Order: sequence, then structure tokens, then C-alpha cells
Amino acid sequence: MPRDSRIGGVVSSRSFDVVILGAGAAGLMAAIEAGKRGRRTLVLDHADQPGKKILISGGGRCNFTNLHTAPENFLSDNPHFARSALARYTPQDFIALVEKHGIPYHEKTLGQLFCDGSAREILSLLTRELATARATIELGTRILSVRETGASRRFTVETSAGCIGTSSVVVATGGLSIPKIGATGLGYDIARQFGLAVVEPRPALVPLTLAPEDDARWCDLSGVSTEVIAGTSTDGIPRGRRQPAPTFREKLLITHRGLSGPAILQISSYWRPGQTLSIDLAPGREVFAPLLAAKARRDATAAASVIRTLLPARWAERWLALHASAAAKDLSNAAIATLEGQLHAWRITPAGTEGFAKAEVTAGGVSTRELNPKTLEALRCPGLFFIGEVVDVTGWLGGYNFQWAWASGFCAGQCA
Ligand SMILES: Cc1cc2nc3c(=O)[nH]c(=O)nc-3n(C[C@H](O)[C@H](O)[C@H](O)COP(=O)(O)OP(=O)(O)OC[C@H]3O[C@@H](n4cnc5c(N)ncnc54)[C@H](O)[C@@H]3O)c2cc1C
Repeated sequence: MPRDSRIGGVVSSRSFDVVILGAGAAGLMAAIEAGKRGRRTLVLDHADQPGKKILISGGGRCNFTNLHTAPENFLSDNPHFARSALARYTPQDFIALVEKHGIPYHEKTLGQLFCDGSAREILSLLTRELATARATIELGTRILSVRETGASRRFTVETSAGCIGTSSVVVATGGLSIPKIGATGLGYDIARQFGLAVVEPRPALVPLTLAPEDDARWCDLSGVSTEVIAGTSTDGIPRGRRQPAPTFREKLLITHRGLSGPAILQISSYWRPGQTLSIDLAPGREVFAPLLAAKARRDATAAASVIRTLLPARWAERWLALHASAAAKDLSNAAIATLEGQLHAWRITPAGTEGFAKAEVTAGGVSTRELNPKTLEALRCPGLFFIGEVVDVTGWLGGYNFQWAWASGFCAGQCA
């Protein structure tokens, strides 16, 4: 039953123990856990339904976790920060919840677990758990401000539906990716308002665009794909500053604007403007070895036929056309070695990314230096928590981002 209370001189029409901003994966998990502890919990969201990203995730089947989740699968200015939360709430914990609700699922590849049916089943799991935990959810509510009051109810959350007093505010408003389904920078604004550092947000898991010259070379091949190993070079960026980028062996897709596919989405999270990518188009293969055999043909026709065993035909032809030595009549051993090397280290410098409109996640966010890794509570502002994608912890493609949302939401829910 709503009740009036006076908080620090502000009339607050209602009061809750915990107010959670954002009804996405992290916010719903935090609300379930806080509610289970008997905390009177309210979740607010400006959207007309909760968990919109859950519904569109994993191509509609929600890649809800990854069996091999480890801190190494995350980017952050402090790569160790996620360790504690990920250990407290593991993929097995979420799988137990999925099985409790009888949701059929399967491993697609590389430990990635997807629903057999629909992502909607994960959302209804969360809303049923929310109801059981007696947490309240209010949608279509704009959040106007969060203020500290200095009273026992330490915060006032001002919304389009009135003011709410609370002792704990959990910010779970996500990143900037996909603004058309409701992403905003509210979480970063709240962090800055309370004096907390924010690592500059940037699009991640995002297709990369090419400069006009490379666009003219490649983009008419839009739609072709092949398995590659994608990595970054250190060209064009200051040394010693960033988490070293791993390499990713997955598919690369040429698009009408540049490069995409899982290998590129993965490496995009590490890529910085000006940096060159190094792409192995023939992982683990010595493509030109047949030309080195005794009495083998060593001309352009022979080179073309071996490259066609590797790349789709249109791509193979283009690659040959752009590598002059491949057109030679009698390729020397050195020329063959050069061609082999070029195939294993295709160097290309993207012009940019397709931006937040196409980014699956946002890298950067509330600095982990500001947060307690066990509880996600702001060290300098007790009672204020940040969870999920709004924090500077960003997972690889493959279910890691939801696992971070569940784990960080779980941890905040234990003490908010
Ligand atoms: C197309 C797509 C597919 C994806 N697929 C997968 C996948 O299969 N597996 C995986 O692990 N990850 C996937 N992700 C990433 C994953 O969805 C996110 O990392 C995860 O949803 C983050 O959860 P969150 O709760 O932190 O934020 P969100 O899910 O973004 O939730 C934030 C909530 O806050 C609300 N909000 C924002 N601003 C305001 C405001 N000003 N006022 C009120 N409410 C506000 C939003 O409406 C939203 O409901 C995908 C992302 C996209 C875009």
C-alpha cells in the first residue's frame, strides 16, 4: 500500500527499501534477489515492457549464458574486477533456474547456450521469479532525478509518477547500444552526478566500416564469408595502455559497408580508431604448398585454383587481382612465400564502426575503480549500486554479457 513519508524535507509519496532503475536482465535479477530477502523492491523502466533486449537477443533465441565463462572473456580497464561476481553466480546457477522453469535449451557452439524455443521464455522466467519474490515493477515511468537526502531513506528518486524514497538505488539502465529500443545514458549521468568516474562509452560487438578505397575494393562482394583468425596490430595506438587483444577464430562476413561476422564483432570490441586489423584468411593451412611440388604448375591459373579451395569464388578472384605477383607466369619460391604470407596476414584499417545503432553492447561505462567487486556498491556512495552493461565490464560475443548481467545483478541483490 503506498504511504506518504517526509524525506529530507521532500514529500515522497512512496517508500521502498530498494529502487532499481532499469528492467533489463541485470535489473530484473537484482530485483528477484532483493525481493527474496524480504526487501520491499521496486523496478522502474521507461519502456512499455521489461527485458526488450532479452527478446531480441541471440536472434530471438537468447544466448543466455556461456558454459566456459571466465574473467578472460571480458574487457575492462580492470580485467580482474569481474572475477568475484562471476564466481558468486556461475553459468550453472542460471542453468539451474532455466531447468527449474522447464525451458528446453541446447549448446550451439563454443559453450553458447540458447533456448530451443524463444527468448520470451527467459523473460517469463524472470517475471515469474519477480512475482514470487513480491517485487513490484512499474513500466512507462520516466526517471527525472536521483538525489541524496541525508535521511535514513538516503535517496529520493523523482519520476514521472511521483517521488519515491529509498535506502538503496540500483542503477541497471544498460549502455547506449540500440537507442531505438530505449537505451539512454542515464546511468552514466547518475554516476557523474555522484562524482564517480566513467570510462568513455564506445560501441562494441559492432560491424566495422571501410574507407572509400577499401570499400571500392571489397564491398561489392557483400554477402561472402569465410572462417578467419582476426586480431589487431599495435599500429596507430599508443603502446602499453590497453588490455592486449586476443585473436578470434570465427567467420568474417563482407558487408555493403565493410566487415562483420562473429570474428569482426569480437575484435571490434578491442579495436581503436586508426588501428590496423591483421586477418588470417587461411587458418592452419599452407594454401600454396601444392605449387611448390616438383613439376607443379606455378602460374596464375595454378594460384587461382588453390585459392578457390579456400575462399568463395568471387572473393578468390578479387584477392588474386589485387595481389600482382599472383598474376606472374612463373612464380618463384619467394613469390609463393609472399603470397602465402599475405593470405595469413591480410592487413586492413577500418575507417570506423557502425556506431551505437548497430552495436550489440557498449564498452566502457562506470569505472570499476569506483565499485566494490563483491557487491557492485559505489565505494564513495553507500546505497548506490551499478550493475550490468552500465559498468565498465564488457563480454565477448557468446552469452557472456547476459552472464555478467545475471552475476552482477545477483551480487547487488544480496546486499541492496
Ligand atoms: C541485438 C542484440 C542481441 C544480443 N544478444 C545477446 C545474447 O544472445 N547473449 C548475450 O549474452 N548478450 C546479448 N546481447 C547483449 C545483452 O542484451 C546486454 O548486454 C544485456 O541486455 C545488458 O543487460 P542490462 O540489464 O545491463 O541492460 P539492458 O538490457 O539494456 O536494460 C536496461 C534497461 O534500462 C532501461 N532504461 C534505459 N534508460 C532508461 C531511462 N532513462 N529511464 C528508465 N529506464 C531506462 C531500458 O529500457 C532497459 O529496459 C545482445 C544485445 C543486442 C542489442
